[in-house]
Order: sequence, then C-alpha cells, then structure tokens
Amino acid sequence: MKENARYQRRRAGLVAELQQKGITDERVLNAIAAVPRHRFVEDAFVNRAYNDEALPIGLNQTISQPYTVAFQTQLLDVQPGDRILEIGTGSGFQAAVLCELGARVFSIERHRALYTRTKALLHTLGYRVQTRCGDGTLGWPSYAPFDGIIVTAGAADVPPALPDQLRRPDDNHRGGSLVIPVGNKKGQYMNCLTCTGPDTFARETFQSFRFVPLVGEGGME
Ligand code: SAH
Repeated sequence: MKENARYQRRRAGLVAELQQKGITDERVLNAIAAVPRHRFVEDAFVNRAYNDEALPIGLNQTISQPYTVAFQTQLLDVQPGDRILEIGTGSGFQAAVLCELGARVFSIERHRALYTRTKALLHTLGYRVQTRCGDGTLGWPSYAPFDGIIVTAGAADVPPALPDQLRRPDDNHRGGSLVIPVGNKKGQYMNCLTCTGPDTFARETFQSFRFVPLVGEGGME
C-alpha cells in the first residue's frame, strides 16, 4: 500500500512535467496517470520509471520516453472504441496507455522474446491487447481498417502497406490517422498522415525525436 502511494505520487509528478512540456490533452494525461510504468521496466530501473526518460528493455530496445508516448498519443486523438494498431509493442507501455483511452488495441512486435514477455505482462495487468509476433511494416490487414496506426520505431519512409489500412472517411467516421517518426538513424521527424478521401492523405510534420530503428519493409534496416 505504502509503495503504491509512493508510485502514485511520482506518477503525478511525471504528469505535471509532461504538462509543463506542452502536453495539453487531459485525456492523454489522465491515461498516463493511470498506467503503472514501473511494471513495464526492468527491476534495475524501477526507481527511474517515473523520470521522463527512455529506458532499456533488453534486446537493444527501449521503452519510449513518456513525453514521446504522450506526444504521439495526443496526435492520434483516440476516441473510445477506436481501433488502433501499434507497430512495435516493446514493453507494452504505449499499448496500455491506448487501452486506458478506451481503444481496441492491436499491437505487433518482431522480437519473439519481447512479444512473449509483454503479452503475459499485459494480461497480468488486465490490459486487453490483441498481440502478434511479426513484421509490423506490413500492418495487420485482417483487422483493418484502423482509426489510428502508431509506429513506435524510427522509419526511413512510410511503409506503403500502412496508409491503405487506415479508415476512409464517411458520414459517420472521420478518416484514420497514421502517426510515424520518419528520418534517419540520427533522428526522425514525427509525421501524421490523415486519410481525407479514398486515396488522399493530409500530411503534417512535427518536431524531431530519436527512436530505435524500424526493421523490415520500409524500415531502416
Ligand atoms: N511502444 C514501445 C516502444 C518499444 S521500442 C513501448 O511502449 O515500450 C520499438 C519496438 O519496435 C522494439 O521493441 C522493436 O523490436 C520493435 N520493432 C522494430 N521494427 C519492427 C517491425 N518491423 N515490426 C514490429 N516491431 C518492430
């Protein structure tokens, strides 16, 4: 109990820091306030779980910095019931944040060891995420269309399969959005592509970040 209160205090501190850094969407801030990030990091880093920093999760991969998670999630503008595809499950933290927003979450991870470990963790914590081990740059056509696709590794370009799997706008739904960091190994600019018609997309570019490389078709390696 005591420990819980300590983590909750630290988490509130992290959320305040994210707000100071310019994250304005209350729903995103509340979602991050609800996820026990200390459960998603290795034991050796538990004391740093509520610092605004990326941390190693093994296999040369990282749990993204909370600011990055907040920035990408805010761009996705998730509504309850939205179908969201994540490429790069990693620790599962981003997937948990999407669940807290009421999304139906699908997530693909290429590293089998991470896939297995994270699938079990999400289940233990009660987060319902449809997970799969494979190359996420191909998307997940059998569950498309998606209201949002979020890529949490750095791409050299937009993998061509992904925009096709976004929801087309109609009378009841707006078009889906793809949030993806695009650049080279040194850094990537955040891009948001929103589907505006059967074959048209509006593209916006934001500030730069530094992700681990996206591997596979349309990836960096
Ligand atoms: N969203 C994660 C971030 C993990 S880092 C989190 O919240 O912790 C990015 C992850 O993308 C790594 O685990 C890496 O193995 C994975 N990845 C890289 N290329 C991929 C691909 N083509 N398909 C699926 N996962 C990929």
